[in-house]
Amino acid sequence: MTRGTAVWTNWARTEHIRPVRRERPDSIQAVQRLVRAAAGAGLPIKAVGAGHSFTGIAVAPGVPLDLDALSGIVRVDRDRQQVTLLGGTRLHQLPALLEPHGLAMANLGDIDRQTIAGAISTGTHGTGLGFGGIATQVVGVTIVTADGSLLTADSEQESDLLPALALGLGAFGILVEVTLQCVPAFVLHAVERPEPLDGLLPTLLDRAAAVDHFEFYWFPHTGTALTKSNRRLPGDAAVQPIRPVARWVDDTLLANGVYRVLCNAGVVAPGIVPRVNRLADRLVGDREFTDRSTKVFTTSRTVRFREMEYALPLEHLRTAFERVRALIDERGWRVSFPIEVRVAAADSLWLSTASDRATGYVAVHRFFREEPGEYFRGVEAIMTGLGGRPHWGKLHTRDAQSLRAVYPRFDDFVQLRDRLDPGRLFGNAYLARVLGA
Ligand SMILES: Cc1cc2nc3c(=O)[nH]c(=O)nc-3n(C[C@H](O)[C@H](O)[C@H](O)COP(=O)(O)OP(=O)(O)OC[C@H]3O[C@@H](n4cnc5c(N)ncnc54)[C@H](O)[C@@H]3O)c2cc1C
Repeated sequence: MTRGTAVWTNWARTEHIRPVRRERPDSIQAVQRLVRAAAGAGLPIKAVGAGHSFTGIAVAPGVPLDLDALSGIVRVDRDRQQVTLLGGTRLHQLPALLEPHGLAMANLGDIDRQTIAGAISTGTHGTGLGFGGIATQVVGVTIVTADGSLLTADSEQESDLLPALALGLGAFGILVEVTLQCVPAFVLHAVERPEPLDGLLPTLLDRAAAVDHFEFYWFPHTGTALTKSNRRLPGDAAVQPIRPVARWVDDTLLANGVYRVLCNAGVVAPGIVPRVNRLADRLVGDREFTDRSTKVFTTSRTVRFREMEYALPLEHLRTAFERVRALIDERGWRVSFPIEVRVAAADSLWLSTASDRATGYVAVHRFFREEPGEYFRGVEAIMTGLGGRPHWGKLHTRDAQSLRAVYPRFDDFVQLRDRLDPGRLFGNAYLARVLGA
């Protein structure tokens, strides 16, 4: 175990905290001991994943637990295609862990730096009308609860708790094991194209329904949507990957390196942003390739930004997007970062942003050196008016009272928290705001 009191900061540099002491347990028993010790000392304790949440959800003022030493496979059920992982496992470790078993995760988000526990705890999602977020792939969890005991929820025990614990905002305890329902390894055929935005919007839902995984980006001040359409193919389908050099030029040099320079230039001279965005349009996206699923789903993001993302009833997706577009025009803001639009199937997790409704997502971003306040507040007002639910890991200002109105199972979640963590051992300021004290 390591100790230290250096300042912890998240990826987006929106949160900073100097915890009382840090711990790095290397076994589940060590997690149990640390939870009991923190409770005895009256210190809050919390698992911190990769720190990729933009909100203060992972802030641990007392004892942050780094679970990097708790990673890897615990067991594999080949018949059911289920794999149990330790909670600190990073998503980027999964291809090497799952491929020997001929398995893969059914869907992923944009990047793979997160931990499995962190990703499911905030409702991390990708895109696809027939697919839910990562937490919907969870068929079992084991947590260390506030008294240091183990609680397992799966299809055989405490199954009624699984829809809460699988997407638990870190509020119930420390996830030490996560069992995923995997699928046979598969290949994705990807088509990435620039298209006229005005032609795309009227057919948006049809386009999303036409392929397995559809999304688009729009750089404000341009008329072009960068669409991504991925079709699933069997695992033995022939692959035609992007050549490594071409991938590096596209994804690292152009999409990240040149883009970083352009964003920095936009901070000192906002007037150049529309021209920069038209250039960015040309730097990314016009390619077709086939590769193993994880290589297509995830990319690297090295340009630091801040993000807000809202989940809307699918039927409001186009309206929400068009209102944001109109707002940017009306207010004359110069926004260098794109808006991302994705979709997901309805699910039955209590606090999933797609709980009980087919969902469209609108994500807005700002370069991390730019003040997102006014823009994000304007977007949030639009989304809230359309019944939107904020991503738990991305910036928003909603509180328990307003969130209760958009989540039918909100009070069940709060009651379960009262039962499992009455003393708020796993609490922090963010959870107090979004769940109530
Ligand atoms: C560049 C970038 C790209 C992103 N892309 C996407 C995307 O495509 N789709 C999407 O939906 N989101 C995306 N996100 C958001 C990100 O996936 C979530 O914020 C996710 O929670 C981060 O995982 P993490 O491991 O960093 O968790 P952290 O941010 O460190 O923690 C998140 C929460 O999980 C809890 N937690 C972590 N480990 C445990 C554990 N073992 N037990 C109990 N609780 C735990 C923490 O206490 C906290 O409450 C992106 C973020 C960034 C910075």
